[in-house]
Amino acid sequence: EAKAKKGAAFKVYDATMNLKVMQKVELESEAREALRDNQFSLALQPQIEMHTGKLIGFEALLRWYHPKKGHISPAQFIPLLENTSFMLELDYWVIARSTRIVRDFKNSGYPDIKIAINLSAGQFLAPTLPEFLQQQIIKNDIAPNQVCLELTETVLVSDIKRATSIMRTIREMGCMLAIDDFGTGYSSLSYLKSLPADYIKIDRSFVANIASSADDRNIVHSTISMVCNMGMQVVAEGIETSEQYELLCHFDCHIGQGYLISKPISEANIWDVLNDKVEYNFWKDFT
Ligand code: C2E
Ligand code: MG
Ligand code: MG
Ligand code: MG
Repeated sequence: EAKAKKGAAFKVYDATMNLKVMQKVELESEAREALRDNQFSLALQPQIEMHTGKLIGFEALLRWYHPKKGHISPAQFIPLLENTSFMLELDYWVIARSTRIVRDFKNSGYPDIKIAINLSAGQFLAPTLPEFLQQQIIKNDIAPNQVCLELTETVLVSDIKRATSIMRTIREMGCMLAIDDFGTGYSSLSYLKSLPADYIKIDRSFVANIASSADDRNIVHSTISMVCNMGMQVVAEGIETSEQYELLCHFDCHIGQGYLISKPISEANIWDVLNDKVEYNFWKDFT
């Protein structure tokens, strides 16, 4: 009887597995087609220096516009594409596109604008990453420190030795590194002290509650002090209200991004915003 139960349980497991694999395979082939079909683009979200409001650069965020399904959120398709061979291709496309945007900025009179690029957990550990990144930097004739790679704690947890060694290689090239969604993963303080990173990005979920929750406010405040003492800078993501902004400034948070400052801007609209033809950017109010 025990054996029969075991068999049944296995069958159920097997069926759901098949479904997941099916969806994944289907999505992967659709995404491959989408890339060939130019359905992907980047949206750029401004990052500002908190105390001055000066524009530092943009985070590049992937957008998929499907002709039949409309906009598909990266939060939906990236987790499903994770660990497929296509994800590496897509991440490399993002790197190529982002570095080209920096070159365009440079050629249009904005020589110092930085770009932050998200990398999937698996792709950061790809042995070809440093070389590919270097090629794109040289090809577009931009400074390595104009490129920041954002990785999540998942990368560190999966293989800390390998991750830190790649991080060192990337920093030796002169590029910057940020730990994204900080506080949501399984990271411990012990690895933070030896982490070769430039920025820690405090997750939006903490920022969202700093005005209403004393606990979250304390967490954010002490994270900023600690990260600062370790010689790194803090980026606060998801700033939506001026109350949150004021608190973060008060805690000496270095860099901020969020809907209060600006929503992500499509590549097509970025020039109007930069050239001040469009009046929807908060960061210009400062300067
Ligand atoms: P993330 O890297 O933490 O990016 C921040 C997300 O928060 C973005 O969502 C952004 O649009 C959103 N956001 C920014 N400010 C605010 C705000 O004030 N309020 C709220 N509610 N949301 C805000 P998005 O663009 O949907 O991206 C979701 C996630 O998908 C990203 O989280 C990142 O993990 C991943 N992702 C996006 N683009 C790429 C990419 O090119 N490659 C990879 N591998 N992952 C990407
Ligand atoms: Mg990010
Ligand atoms: Mg983030
Ligand atoms: Mg996030």
